[in-house]
Amino acid sequence: MLPDLVAEESAPPRRPALSPSRAGDFKQCPLLYRFRAIDKLPETPSAAQLRGTVVHAVLEQLFGLPREERVLSRAQELVAPTWERLVAEQPALATLLSGGALDSAGALLGGYFELEDPRRLEPEACELLVETELPSGVLLRGYIDRLDVAPTGEIRVVDYKTGTAPREIGEAKALFQMKFYALALWRLRGVVPRQLRLMYLADRQSLAYTPDEAELTRFERTLDAIWQAILRAGRTGDFRPNRSRLCDWCSHQAHCPEFGGTPPEYPGWPEPDASDESLVDRAD
Ligand code: SF4
Repeated sequence: MLPDLVAEESAPPRRPALSPSRAGDFKQCPLLYRFRAIDKLPETPSAAQLRGTVVHAVLEQLFGLPREERVLSRAQELVAPTWERLVAEQPALATLLSGGALDSAGALLGGYFELEDPRRLEPEACELLVETELPSGVLLRGYIDRLDVAPTGEIRVVDYKTGTAPREIGEAKALFQMKFYALALWRLRGVVPRQLRLMYLADRQSLAYTPDEAELTRFERTLDAIWQAILRAGRTGDFRPNRSRLCDWCSHQAHCPEFGGTPPEYPGWPEPDASDESLVDRAD
């Protein structure tokens, strides 16, 4: 079953954790973090986000098929039923995506097949939940689109990018996310992933990146510092707005002082969890 797009409210209580999406929110704008993770203000997913959700779900299903069936026509056949399943679970989505947008999901899948042949791959996992605690006590939690493990034990983390954000902004965010996963896997398995691969399906391009231990150690300190800053702000409710060009993509301008709005009264640090990612976050 596909989880709710905006908030996974039925999930059992879990310890507060840091996800790449929420850490990225806090880095971008502490007030945005508050609106999303603490106030949980509703956001209407964009057509591009929904299309990305469908594409991610189709690619996950594709790798569940026998190798010989992993062809473009079969992937495109999966688009409509995947969308229908999403709508059956959340009928409010029905009006948000047109038939044309579903066609463009098919085009993104075409982009995927130009980048690799899934018949030649046997991933260890798709949509893999990784959760690990850093020595500082920070709990990391996130979902990896795909994990490939070679017979030699070398690990490759694959992330599909379907979004429309400007490339230079998207890449910094994507790299942050990939280092997050690499660090979590290193801590969980004792192996630094050999490759982090970003597949830009619309551009039909992929980027490969090789992390090293020194870099991930520095990144771990960065995550510790972000989490400490979140906890400090959480205690006082002092989540400051940080205006930038990314405000153009923010759904909460009406509540933001930078745009003449007033935030709702601070509800206090949530128990037990403020950092889960929605399905839309994961399909970014
Ligand atoms: S509009 Fe900009 S400054 Fe205001 S909450 Fe959103 S991202 Fe932050």
